[in-house]
Amino acid sequence: MAHCPECETLVDVVVDEVEEGEIVTCPECGVDLEVVNTNPIELDLAEDEELEEDEEEELDEDEEEHEE
Ligand SMILES: [Zn+2]
Repeated sequence: MAHCPECETLVDVVVDEVEEGEIVTCPECGVDLEVVNTNPIELDLAEDEELEEDEEEELDEDEEEHEE
């Protein structure tokens, strides 16, 4: 359990089930929270409006080496 930095609500985060960098959502205010620490559990606002972590977007390593 950790406090939401936005509204101070206790967010039910199971330490064993989250990893650093994981995003959880506050059930009270709906803000996205990033797990910045797991021991002790610590949450921070995840204010990334532009999420560049597209899990679907795998890097196409299709680049051929250019020999010059
Ligand atoms: Zn909250």
